[in-house]
Amino acid sequence: MSTAFMGMPGFPRAARAAVNDAQLRSNLRTATRTIREKRDAAVSELDDWQDLRAAGQAIKNRTLRHLDLYLERLESAVQAAGGRVHWASDAAEANRLVTRLVRDTGESEVVKVKSMTTQEIELNEALGQAGITAYETDLAELIVQLSEDRPSHILVPAIHRNRAEIRDILASHMAEWGTPAPEGLTDDPRALAEAARRHLRDRFLTTNVAVSGANFAVADTGTMVVLESEGNGRMCLTLPRTLISVVGIEKVVPSWSDLEVFLQLLPRSSTGERMNPYTSTWTGVAPGDGPEEFHLVLLDNGRTNALSDTVGRQALRCIRCSACLNVCPVYERTGGHAYGSVYPGPIGAILTPQLRGTTAEPEASLPYASSLCGACYEVCPVSIDIPDVLVRLREQVVSQPGHRSEKAAMRAAGWVLGGHRRLGLAQAAATAARSVVPRRLPPPASAWTDSRDLPSVPGRTFREWWRDRAEGKESGA
Ligand code: SF4
Repeated sequence: MSTAFMGMPGFPRAARAAVNDAQLRSNLRTATRTIREKRDAAVSELDDWQDLRAAGQAIKNRTLRHLDLYLERLESAVQAAGGRVHWASDAAEANRLVTRLVRDTGESEVVKVKSMTTQEIELNEALGQAGITAYETDLAELIVQLSEDRPSHILVPAIHRNRAEIRDILASHMAEWGTPAPEGLTDDPRALAEAARRHLRDRFLTTNVAVSGANFAVADTGTMVVLESEGNGRMCLTLPRTLISVVGIEKVVPSWSDLEVFLQLLPRSSTGERMNPYTSTWTGVAPGDGPEEFHLVLLDNGRTNALSDTVGRQALRCIRCSACLNVCPVYERTGGHAYGSVYPGPIGAILTPQLRGTTAEPEASLPYASSLCGACYEVCPVSIDIPDVLVRLREQVVSQPGHRSEKAAMRAAGWVLGGHRRLGLAQAAATAARSVVPRRLPPPASAWTDSRDLPSVPGRTFREWWRDRAEGKESGA
């Protein structure tokens, strides 16, 4: 994950600052509501949306079940098309590989097309330490880079910024990175896009190495696929002499007919469009056309660990559409930074702990960053049951060393609930003491009642109510 996220506190503390930021909440509310409405309209146009979701789910499940087979098929196809394949078990290995590949070209600058995988492995920082400058070319990524900020959304990394803030960032910082913003830049979206276009055009025409991610990798033909809206990605993929694609091993799909399903699911779920403005595909190298050298770095970095968990592995079906972020009531109020990872929102809450483990505080807190309302599951185009995985991860977190008071409380509750006499006595005791039950619990349970009302103890138990009803003393309504 990006070093920008290192040292982040756990979710509750990070979220507290975000929910107190009225400007941030307003920016997020406006943006997520707009994308949500567009997505709903685009999805409702298709009568077979649920069938498409089921097909997407089935294809991903089959691919993950036979991942070794499809990855080897992909490797053979890339090599047959003139590309080279490199395997990276973790972030350090991937960074070493990419740094060496760039150094071998003799260049010290690279352009990048939006790639969450390279943010996950902190590639920009690793390249920087080797004296290589990475230039982000996606507009939102550019805004994040210019302002030394962190991405806060899968699809729109600068979603937490409004137009006026973006204007200020471009006007103040573009000159440090190349072509400056024009004098008198306004916050009109067209003016902002034009300023970015002029800035990036120079960069594309002078940089010989590109680093990309890929939305999908087709095993049958060794083809990489990128979907994007601005065309900057296509410039990165066609102009430089060397192209290095860093791709997570879960991005493989067996064939082009499988890809067809995702080319329908992804744009409608992410941007609410029928198809993406730019869908670029590249297969190895072709003399006289596009890059002369193509390298594919296939990254594990915790993915095979996730694959070994029969419940959690469904997170690897994710196609990074961001629909789950846009409907999540927790994300809408906290934004992405509080999740402490390049993968925020509901998918981040299940993916990050699986990739990085749950022993450290930020990761251990993420499975709790949800109300379990299920809205994320409803919109997910590949039907990932995010609440189910969250519960599974919570179970994993509480079974680790620590959580002494929680475990003691659960043991006591198990003993009481284990016998009907004990339960009856406990209920009677609680009813008798109801007038002295405090509204807030003492530490360490106070953390729970700080943000919730402790329910009042009813005047009689359910059993008493049932008995009264049976004896005709109660209407039963
Ligand atoms: S979990 Fe589902 S809804 Fe969320 S980003 Fe991934 S594919 Fe999209």
